[in-house]
Amino acid sequence: MAAGVRLVVLGKQGAGKGTQCVRLSHRYAVPHISTGDMLRAAVRNKTPLGEQAKVLMDGGSLLPDELVMSIVAERLAERDARTRGFLLDGFPRTVGQAEMLEEELGEHGLDCVINLEVPTELVMNRLVTRRVCEDCGAIYSLSQPPTQPWTCDVCGGSVIQRPDDTADAIMVRLSAYEKETRPLIDFYAERGLLETIDGSQDPDTVFSATVSVITRRKEGSA
Ligand code: ADP
Repeated sequence: MAAGVRLVVLGKQGAGKGTQCVRLSHRYAVPHISTGDMLRAAVRNKTPLGEQAKVLMDGGSLLPDELVMSIVAERLAERDARTRGFLLDGFPRTVGQAEMLEEELGEHGLDCVINLEVPTELVMNRLVTRRVCEDCGAIYSLSQPPTQPWTCDVCGGSVIQRPDDTADAIMVRLSAYEKETRPLIDFYAERGLLETIDGSQDPDTVFSATVSVITRRKEGSA
């Protein structure tokens, strides 16, 4: 079996983190750990965490660092993540979370951090036209809908517009990205872990560029 990998994938909303992580998780046989997907599942299942998260999420605001770290730590403790590695999508997204993650994983905890760079005008357009499967998180758009109207090709679930993919919530999320998440670029550059990839290219090109970077990193550390 191919070697695993331990990655953080950074990028603003709509940069393509989810799309690339699905492909990367198959390529390296590692779990795709998306805090957004885990939180949306909690909201759907009406768990106490979901009840607490819903209002903040619908408005596009971030949840408290400790809360999100605790659900990530629980997932990272599972066997697949411990033995093969992981792809972290949507976490960390504050310096506080990145520090907690570093403490959790230790100094050599990550192979690298992929930063998908995409101009804001492009992500705005991607987000307002984005549609997602409520059940498995597969991503579609108005220009690339599922084969059967709004039924997921992968799992048969309902394909919907996310409640936070509205113009107002998108503005809140993008400004939270600038204020809270962009500083992580310097945080990981200072640690020699950052790799920036042009996320405005088509998904196949972004995927092969990402795999090349990971290969180079892993060969470098072998
Ligand atoms: P996006 O990156 O497109 O905003 P996500 O699916 O990653 O969407 O996250 C959806 C929402 O879940 C966020 O707007 C926020 O409310 C919450 N969330 C997800 N990850 C985190 C995190 N690491 N820290 C705080 N809140 C988070």
